Amino acid sequence: NADTAMYHAKEQGRNNMQYFTAALNAAAEERLAMERELRVALDDSQFELHYQPQFATAAGATAHPCGVEALIRWHHPQRGLIAPARFIPVAEECGLIEAIGDWALNEACRCFAAWKSAAINPARVAVNLSAHQLRNPSLPERVGTLMERHGLGAGELELEITESVAMADPAAAVETLERLRALGVTLAIDDFGTGYSSLAYLKRLPIQVLKLDREFVGDIESDPSDAQICAATFTLAHSLGLEVVAEGVETEAQRAFLASHRCDKLQGYLLGRPQPAEYWEKCWRSKASAV
Ligand code: C2E
Ligand code: MG
Ligand code: MG
Ligand code: MG
Repeated sequence: NADTAMYHAKEQGRNNMQYFTAALNAAAEERLAMERELRVALDDSQFELHYQPQFATAAGATAHPCGVEALIRWHHPQRGLIAPARFIPVAEECGLIEAIGDWALNEACRCFAAWKSAAINPARVAVNLSAHQLRNPSLPERVGTLMERHGLGAGELELEITESVAMADPAAAVETLERLRALGVTLAIDDFGTGYSSLAYLKRLPIQVLKLDREFVGDIESDPSDAQICAATFTLAHSLGLEVVAEGVETEAQRAFLASHRCDKLQGYLLGRPQPAEYWEKCWRSKASAV
């Protein structure tokens, strides 16, 4: 009857609620565990930078790369290699991103300096910044110290920030970016096209490079309107004096399209995957000795 049906429904609800609460607790516990483990990871040197090459579009992948982007990896002692998308957001929330970000900046500069002294360096190394790092007014000073410590000159360090990070507090961002600029740092907008900012607005930021998001690049061949938007973006970016890098280039057809539309630089699996420093050192040394 109706009473028993009601009773069962309530029981069911209670069980669902218990199940839901248990799942929430498990997620919260996993998060806490990750926080704890991230602190250990910093002290235990479990982080590593992989580097992905960028090539001048005209030069092609057999040339020496014009730059590399540093991408962080976490070698977890039990869980193996963890991608940044899984732990950077946690690091941002628990306040560890500054320490991890400082580690990445120092490591990228150290590595670039070693390549330079072996005369196998690409022209520059790019490092990703998170919102918290950009918000800290002492960032330019710390970057300046690192550049001096490792002997990096103007144009050798590039910092990448996303549109949303730059737009969160534009006035503060402009001031910090201008101080970085004064150190000779190249500034790039990452994942361009995924946010809501107009190029006209971005132009007020002291940036030099736009990195077209790979979501866009992936659809160049299949979606005519995406192709149109890409082409228009290149034209406008160039008229504003910005260099354009295409991310996530995976096919020859994409490369051909980007080349014919005067995209300046290419980055993607077609040209090279992110790899540890030693991998590139071997590769560049053998090329250098073959010449
Ligand atoms: P991002 O800066 O946009 O980096 C590009 C991402 O696209 C990298 O993923 C790279 O491995 C991937 N990728 C490159 N070429 C291709 C391709 O042809 N196809 C596909 N499908 N993917 C490609 P990854 O290394 O997993 O990094 C993800 C994101 O994590 C980065 O996106 C960046 O936002 C963030 N990140 C990485 N390292 C750091 C860091 O040191 N600090 C901070 N704050 N964020 C970082
Ligand atoms: Mg990036
Ligand atoms: Mg990107
Ligand atoms: Mg991205």
